[in-house]
Amino acid sequence: MTAGNTLAQDLEQAQRYGIWAGIAGLQDPALGSQRLCGPAVPALAEAAVSSAAPFLRAPLLDRISAALLLHREQDGWCPTCLEPAPCPTTRALRW
Ligand SMILES: [Zn+2]
Repeated sequence: MTAGNTLAQDLEQAQRYGIWAGIAGLQDPALGSQRLCGPAVPALAEAAVSSAAPFLRAPLLDRISAALLLHREQDGWCPTCLEPAPCPTTRALRW
């Protein structure tokens, strides 16, 4: 299994958790008369989570990209870690 597969699987699992949380949130009794119920709730939760996901991931992906730039190979070495490239940081952050 590659780091990319692991990240993809983690993102898919996070999406499922988000949908489950959305289903619970839409049916929360604290919403009172605005509480939703019925067979459309899972579809509404999935649509909401799918629409929000890129905006929630963007800050994290931005920071990962910035870290990868700091550890970009130069002449076979990582200039930040001073280790042979790819350094452990780069291997951990690749997707
Ligand atoms: Zn490094």
